[in-house]
Amino acid sequence: MRAVSVTAGVPNSLRLEDDHPEPATEEGAILVEALAVGICGTDHEIIAGEFGIAPPGTDSLVMGHESLGQVLEDPTGTLQPGDLVAGIVRHPDPVPCTNCAVGEWDMCRNGQYTEHGIKMLPGFARDRWRVQPRFAVGLDPALTDVGMLLEPTSVVAKAWDHIERIGHRAEWKPQTVLVTGAGPVGLLAALLASQRGLVVHVLDRATSGPKPELVAALGATYHAVPVNQLDIEPDIVIEATGAPTVVLDVMCKAAPTGIVCLAGVSSGGRTMDFDAGALNRALVLENNVVFGSVNANRRHWDLAAQALARADRTWLGSLITRRVPVSGYAEAYTPTPDDIKVVLDFTA
Ligand SMILES: [Zn+2]
Repeated sequence: MRAVSVTAGVPNSLRLEDDHPEPATEEGAILVEALAVGICGTDHEIIAGEFGIAPPGTDSLVMGHESLGQVLEDPTGTLQPGDLVAGIVRHPDPVPCTNCAVGEWDMCRNGQYTEHGIKMLPGFARDRWRVQPRFAVGLDPALTDVGMLLEPTSVVAKAWDHIERIGHRAEWKPQTVLVTGAGPVGLLAALLASQRGLVVHVLDRATSGPKPELVAALGATYHAVPVNQLDIEPDIVIEATGAPTVVLDVMCKAAPTGIVCLAGVSSGGRTMDFDAGALNRALVLENNVVFGSVNANRRHWDLAAQALARADRTWLGSLITRRVPVSGYAEAYTPTPDDIKVVLDFTA
C-alpha cells in the first residue's frame, strides 16, 4: 500500500512508498481506510529534519497526524464498517506519569508520550491504518469532506475547556474574545467562540485572501492592525501566532480578570526590549491569567467532534484551500502564501 514517509532527522527525505507493509495488528483492532490527512507546520518541521522521531527499530517515519478515515472492520463493535473515524494523535507515556495514568496525556509531565506521525508512532498518511477503540473518535457522517479538521479542532477544544475552568475560579461573565492569527487554529478557535455566543474579534496580518471573509462569515470582526491599535478590551484572548510582539501585546490588552491562552509556538532566538516589571504589575493588579495550551485528550476530541457536527459545513470546507491527490504529495507539502489548510487526498 501507499505511505508518505521521511527518514527522521534527514532534511528533504520526504517520499511516497508504493509497497509499504499493511498496518500491524498490534496497532489496534479497528482497521481503517484512509480518506485524507491534513498538513500543518509540524509536518513542515519534520520534513526539514528539525523534528520527528521514527518508531523503535527503524529510521523511517510515516507522516500525518491530522487523520480521517472510514472503518473497514471493527471486531470490537465500537464502530461500524463505513463509519467516519479519526485517530487520536498522542498516546500516554509508559511510566505512566500522574496525568497519563488517568487519560490526561495532553498534560504529560515526563515527556515520554508518543505521537502518530511525529514521535515514535507511524502516522496516518498511508492507505490503511489501525487504531485501538480508546484512540478512535467517530465523526458525524456529514463530515466526509472536512473531518480531517478534527485534530486542530481538538487542540482548540482543549484551550476552551481550560479557559472555562480558569474562568470559573470566580464569578465570570465573559463577553469579548480576541483571537490572534487566522490560520486553522485561530479560525477554529473563533468558530468555538462564536458557538459560545461571544463577541469575537480576529486579528491577522492578511489584508486579502479568504481570511477576512471567513471571519465575517462567523459574525466576527476582522482586524489587520497591530494589537495595540485595537479599540477593545477582551475578556479572553487566544493567541495563535507565536509572534513575540503579538504575545506581549495581547497580555497587555486583556481586560481586568482577563484570561490569555497561548496556543502558538514561537521559534525562539529573537530578543526584544521589554518591561517585565510593568507586565507583572498589570497581571497582578488585574488578576489576569496567562497560560499555555497544547494537544488534547479523549474528552477534548469528543467535544471537538460535537463542535464540528454543529458547524456550517460550507464554512469548514472553505478552510481547506487545497486538496491534493497522494500522487502530488510533494506539491501538497510545499506551502504557498494563500494556504489555510492543505489536505492530502487518499481517495484520488
Ligand atoms: Zn505522561
